[in-house]
Amino acid sequence: MAEISLYRPFPAEEVPGWNFETDVAVIGFGAAGACAAIEAADADARVMLFERNSGSGGASGLSGGEIYVGGGGGTDAQRAAGFDDSTKDFTAYLKAAGGPCADEAKCEVYGREALSHYAWLKAQGVPYRGNYLPGKHIEPTDDSTLIWSGSEAAAPFCDIAKPAPRGHVIQHMGWGGGRPLVDILEAAARARGVEVVTDARAVALVQDGTRIVGVVVRIDNANRFVRAAHGVVLATGGFVFNEAMRRKYCPDTFKLNDPIGDKDDGAGIELGVGAGGDAIHMEQFFTTCPWTMPESHAYGVFVNIQGQRFINEDCYHGRVSRCAVDQPGGKVYLLLDNAHFVQPMDFARMSIAGTGETWDEVESELGMPAGTLSATMAVYNEHARDGRDPLFGKRSPILTPLDQGPFVALELDFQASYFSFFTLGGLRTSAKGEVLDRAGMAIPGLFAAGRCTSGLPAWGHGYSSGLSLADCTFFGRYAGRSAAAPGGN
Ligand SMILES: Cc1cc2nc3c(=O)[nH]c(=O)nc-3n(C[C@H](O)[C@H](O)[C@H](O)COP(=O)(O)OP(=O)(O)OC[C@H]3O[C@@H](n4cnc5c(N)ncnc54)[C@H](O)[C@@H]3O)c2cc1C
Repeated sequence: MAEISLYRPFPAEEVPGWNFETDVAVIGFGAAGACAAIEAADADARVMLFERNSGSGGASGLSGGEIYVGGGGGTDAQRAAGFDDSTKDFTAYLKAAGGPCADEAKCEVYGREALSHYAWLKAQGVPYRGNYLPGKHIEPTDDSTLIWSGSEAAAPFCDIAKPAPRGHVIQHMGWGGGRPLVDILEAAARARGVEVVTDARAVALVQDGTRIVGVVVRIDNANRFVRAAHGVVLATGGFVFNEAMRRKYCPDTFKLNDPIGDKDDGAGIELGVGAGGDAIHMEQFFTTCPWTMPESHAYGVFVNIQGQRFINEDCYHGRVSRCAVDQPGGKVYLLLDNAHFVQPMDFARMSIAGTGETWDEVESELGMPAGTLSATMAVYNEHARDGRDPLFGKRSPILTPLDQGPFVALELDFQASYFSFFTLGGLRTSAKGEVLDRAGMAIPGLFAAGRCTSGLPAWGHGYSSGLSLADCTFFGRYAGRSAAAPGGN
């Protein structure tokens, strides 16, 4: 008998007998899997959903539940707050956020359909209060809907697309809206008759000729064979907790110590690659250190160990953090003056590395050569007083002189400070959710969505909050619909 393996599909002719028969088998019950299951059921397919945990959730259930939406003139929340967000600007931003890794087709289709996707989420029962919360927030601390969640208002993005806030958060008090979001999607899936099997871990795909026709799941220490007449949808999340995969594909993450997610062992990516799928942008990851909390710290200036700035700090906290991790020496400094310094949040694990009555004194306490950090701050302050940042294009109101002593340098050490991170690379899929091989051809019967694919959040340096769940929920729906089509693809 052939081996049951993540890395090679099991031959259909050797299946001893089918334990389950369905049209569509969805693997993984996070946001992507739930949305795939809902759409496949709406397309009249019989749907079974297999989840290795004892219930739904995954990283989606741990998340903030924030979804990146815009275009089409704006959502109700955007319009009520005075933002008329055109599809052209929204799509242009999506592409800029994807940088060199952007999937143009996915940006185009989501750019066109995000507004109707938002309506779909509401139709599933996802509540939105509909109001706008100005300022810099990682997630709302109340139940507000709309926040700035990316680098829209910062250079170079603001020159590429007219800025608008686009982070839409489920109505939920405080952080952690992902759990109620998944609960609502789970209820919608179950109401459609999706059969959920928990404690069932996919360990192999089943292949008949070139076609994927099923999956092997491990239940109660036994291999169970699932026949999926139309298709299998992989929705198993990323690989941030798989050290071997990270070492192979994403070694820069070893600079950091705080992976976030729920097991994320890359199994779906391995299954897809084993079936001939291509895995792309595997080196990309999101990271952030919560340096904009308290909010006054958003007005700070970052320098590397050479005392040099490296980014316009008015960008999204994750973009700044990701660029920070590219800097030499394993740490960067956040510089603040007395007008902006507040004791940092304990959980950020940032320490005070230097203080002084002048920036020269801070420079000396940090052990930097004279005329490095102090010159950086002299140039910065001189131009900030004129409302300009000729080096990086930082804009007011975040652009403000830091000239009220005493001064402080907070250290963000990549190993010691809280730099949370998760992976962005994964299977290459079409905008319809088909898993593509290296020639760009769809693998018959195999679909995927969410963080086991590379999608809208393709580039760590351009990540904006809400892009991952936008990608999971929207392209999860596409994958489910494609898999449900008679004969799949
Ligand atoms: C704390 C935190 C906050 C975040 N906040 C946001 C946010 O507000 N907005 C945003 O866009 N993104 C956010 N993210 C990122 C986002 O939550 C994830 O990228 C996204 O939820 C991934 O969804 P998914 O459906 O692809 O995977 P998951 O939600 O992880 O679901 C995958 C599921 O597949 C199951 N599974 C895995 N392997 C197998 C197998 N072999 N067999 C059976 N089942 C399997 C897992 O158990 C899991 O339940 C956040 C992440 C974290 C950790």
